[in-house]
Amino acid sequence: MQFSKIIGHTALKARLIGNIREGRVPHAQFFMGPRGSGVLPLALAYGQYLLCEAPGPGDSCGTCASCQMVAKLAHPDLHLVFPIFLLDKMKTCEPFLPDWRAAVLEQPYLDDDIWREKINGVNKQLRMGVDIAAEVMRRLSLKSHRGGWKVMLIWLPEMMDPAMANKLLKVLEEPEPRTSFLLAGHANDRMLPTILSRTQLVKVASPDPGEVAEALHLRYPDLTTDEARAIAGRSEGDMLEAFAMAEDGEEELFIFFRDWLRGCYSNKVAENIASSDYFAKMGREKQKGLMTYALHLIRQCMLQWQDSPQLVQAYGEELDFTRKFSTLLDPSNLEGIRQALETAHGHLERNANPKVLFMDLSYRLGDLLRQKERVV
Ligand SMILES: [Zn+2]
Repeated sequence: MQFSKIIGHTALKARLIGNIREGRVPHAQFFMGPRGSGVLPLALAYGQYLLCEAPGPGDSCGTCASCQMVAKLAHPDLHLVFPIFLLDKMKTCEPFLPDWRAAVLEQPYLDDDIWREKINGVNKQLRMGVDIAAEVMRRLSLKSHRGGWKVMLIWLPEMMDPAMANKLLKVLEEPEPRTSFLLAGHANDRMLPTILSRTQLVKVASPDPGEVAEALHLRYPDLTTDEARAIAGRSEGDMLEAFAMAEDGEEELFIFFRDWLRGCYSNKVAENIASSDYFAKMGREKQKGLMTYALHLIRQCMLQWQDSPQLVQAYGEELDFTRKFSTLLDPSNLEGIRQALETAHGHLERNANPKVLFMDLSYRLGDLLRQKERVV
C-alpha cells in the first residue's frame, strides 16, 4: 500500500514521510482513529515506506522488490499481528495469516466485524493472548531478512489480553534498533496507560465527504456524482460504511427506510410485519447500517426544520423525502426518535433478536411520529 493510494490525510502523510526522511522514526507509534478512517492503510503505507529500497520525497517507489512484497503483505521483515479467536492448536496469528492477508488486500479499511465473518467466527470473541505475545518475541529475535528495518504491525491493539499487553510492554521498554512498532486501532481507553506512554500517538481523522466521494468514484466508477455525494454525506467519514453502502445499492436502503417509516406513521400492521421480516434477513451489519442511516436522515430532517438547508447532506429523492418528513418532527418527538434508533443500534451490537427489536421500534417510532399532527 502506497500513501498515494490512500485518499485524504494529505497533511498527515506529508508529516509522516517528512519525519522518516529526517531520521525521526519513533520506536512505537499508535495510528488511532475511528472506524473507516484508514488507520490500517496508513500504518501499512508507513511500513512500506520504511522498507522501500528507493523511497522518494512523496512516497515509497512502489516498484522495488520490497514494495512488491509489502503490496502482497508478504515481506519477511513486515510482521503482522492481529486478533484471532482461539481454536485447537491455532493460538497464534500464523495459521490465520493467509485469511488476514486476503481480507486486507480486498478491503484495507477492514474492521473486526468483517474479519470475524471472514474466519467464520461471527459470535466468537477476537483476542490476542500470550501465545501471540510469544510469537511476537520469536519474530523480534530474528535478524532482519533484508538487512533493513523490521516492522511489527499490530492491528487492533485494544484487543490484547492483559497478559499479552504486559509482555509487549517489556519489549517497548527496551527498544531494539531499526525496529518499528506500528499499532493501528480505534480505542486507546482499552489499552494499558504504560503502553500508551511508550507509544507516539498518530491521530487519524475521518476523511471529509469530498474525499469519501473521491474514493467511491475510484472504487465504483459507475456511481453517479449525486449517488457518490449522497453516500459520502451519509457515511460520516467512515470509508468502510461508504463502500458497504455503494455495494448494497444505495437506492435499496433508501426505499426500504422510506416505506418503513410510512408504514410506522400510518400504523399499518401488515406492512410493519413485512418490513420486520425483511429486516430480520438483512444480516447484523446491514441492520446496524440501517440504524446509522436512519439517524443520518433524521439529522438531515432536523437541518431542514432548523432552516439550515445549506448544511443538508442529501441529494435527489432522498432530499425530497427529508423535506416532507421534516414536517413531522418537532422538539417534542425528535429526541425520542433519536434515542429509540440509538438504543436499537446498541441492542443489535449485543445480538438482540432483530425481528422483535424491529417490531418494537416500529411501534415506538409510529407513536412518536404521530405526536405531531401533520401529514407527509
Ligand atoms: Zn520501493
